[in-house]
Amino acid sequence: MPAPILIAGGGIGGLTAAVALRRAGFEVEVFERAPEIREVGAGIAIQPNAVLALRWIGLDRAVTEVSCVEEALHLWTAGGDLLARLRPREIVPDVPFLSLHRATLQKVLLEALGPGGVHTGCECVGFEARPDGVTLVLRDGRRIEGAALVGADGVHSRIREQLLGDGEPVYAGYTAWRAVTPEGFAPRPAGSSETWGRGHRFGIVPIEHGRVYWYATSNAAPGGHDKPGALHDSLLRNFGSWHAPIRELIAATPESAILRTDIFHRHPSRRWGRGRVTLLGDAAHPLTPNLGQGACLAIEDGVVLADCLRAIPDLATALRRYETLRRRRTAGIVLRAWHLGWIGQWESPLACRLRDRIVAWTPGAFNRLQMRRLFRFTSFTNSLPAPED
Ligand SMILES: Cc1cc2nc3c(=O)[nH]c(=O)nc-3n(C[C@H](O)[C@H](O)[C@H](O)COP(=O)(O)OP(=O)(O)OC[C@H]3O[C@@H](n4cnc5c(N)ncnc54)[C@H](O)[C@@H]3O)c2cc1C
Repeated sequence: MPAPILIAGGGIGGLTAAVALRRAGFEVEVFERAPEIREVGAGIAIQPNAVLALRWIGLDRAVTEVSCVEEALHLWTAGGDLLARLRPREIVPDVPFLSLHRATLQKVLLEALGPGGVHTGCECVGFEARPDGVTLVLRDGRRIEGAALVGADGVHSRIREQLLGDGEPVYAGYTAWRAVTPEGFAPRPAGSSETWGRGHRFGIVPIEHGRVYWYATSNAAPGGHDKPGALHDSLLRNFGSWHAPIRELIAATPESAILRTDIFHRHPSRRWGRGRVTLLGDAAHPLTPNLGQGACLAIEDGVVLADCLRAIPDLATALRRYETLRRRRTAGIVLRAWHLGWIGQWESPLACRLRDRIVAWTPGAFNRLQMRRLFRFTSFTNSLPAPED
C-alpha cells in the first residue's frame, strides 16, 4: 500500500483536505492534538466561495441542509442607523451564503471522512523530510511515515515554525468574544449584522436550531483574561447601550459559553512549503476574521490541494502548484481583512463619524463588485466534473 499523506491538525482545513484527498483516491491520516473532536468554537459563516468548493467534494448539499441561509447582511452604527445592506443572492443567485455552528460543520466533514480518519490526542512536534517521504514526529515519541505532510495546525502552527521559522504571528490590536445563545432566543434577529462603535464592534448571526451566534471585538492588550463572574458586566459596559438585541443577546448567554480569542494575522508570505511538506488554512495564511473568510479559504485550500495532487503525478511539483494558486488567491484577502479590521476598530470620534459617512455613501454596486471577487472559487482542473455530476 502506498504511504499515506499526513495531515497535522483536524480543524476545518485539515478535515476538508482529508475528505478531498480521500475522494481523489489518496490514503490520508489526520493527527489532531485535542483528545477528542468536541463541540468547540461558536458560529461560522460559510460564504458562497466555500460552498462552491464543497460542491467539488459533494458536500455542499449536506452542509446547506444543516445551515441557515443568509438573505441579507447589514452594517449598523451603535445607535441603530443602517450604514450598508448586502443581499448575497444579488451577487451569486445560485449559491447560498450559509451560517451554522462550527461543530455542525465539523460533524458533516467527519461523517464524510468515515471512521478512523482522525487520530486524536496526537500532538505533532516536528518532522523529518526526505526527497521520497516525510516522518512526522508526535509529542509521545511516535514517528509516522508518510508520502507528504500538510501542516493544517492553525495560526500557531508547529509545522510552519520548523518549515519557515518566521516567528510568531502579529497581534492585530483587538480581542474577540464569541458565543452561541441557547436554543429559542427570541425575537429572532432578521438576518446577520455587524455594528460599528469606537474601538468596539458587535456581530449577530442567526444559526440553526433557533440559536444566535454573536461576537464582540474590543481594542485591548494581548493575553488578557476576564475575571470569572465579571464578564457579563464588562461586556455590558461596552455594548449594553447599543441597539437591540445586543444587550439581550449578552444577557441570554451563560458566561461559560463565551470564548475569548486574541486576533492574529500574518503578512502574506512568499513561501509555504519545501519538498513534500506544505501548509494549509491558518497555518499558511492566518487572517483577521473581519471578512468571515478564514475557514472558507481553508476549505478552498483543501479542495485545490487534492485537485493538484490528483492532476500532477509528482508530489513535490503538485504541492508547489497548489501553493502558487493559493498564494495568489489568499494574499489580497488577508490584506483586505486586516485593513477592514483596522478601520472598524478606530476610536477617534471624528474619524469614526467620517468613516461611517463614507461607508453609508459608498454605492451598493461597489460593495457588490468587491464581494463578487470574494465569492469566486476556481479549482485547479476546472474541466473535472464535481463528484455529484
Ligand atoms: C472570532 C472569530 C470569528 C471567525 N469567524 C469566521 C467565519 O464566520 N467564517 C470563516 O470562514 N472563518 C471565520 N473565522 C476564522 C476561522 O475560524 C479560521 O480561519 C479557521 O478555523 C482556520 O481553520 P484551520 O483548520 O486552518 O485552523 P484551526 O481551525 O485553528 O484548526 C487547527 C487544528 O489543529 C490542531 N492543532 C494545533 N496544533 C497542533 C499540533 N501541534 N498537533 C496536532 N494538532 C494541532 C488544533 O487543535 C485544531 O483542531 C473566525 C475566527 C475568529 C477568531
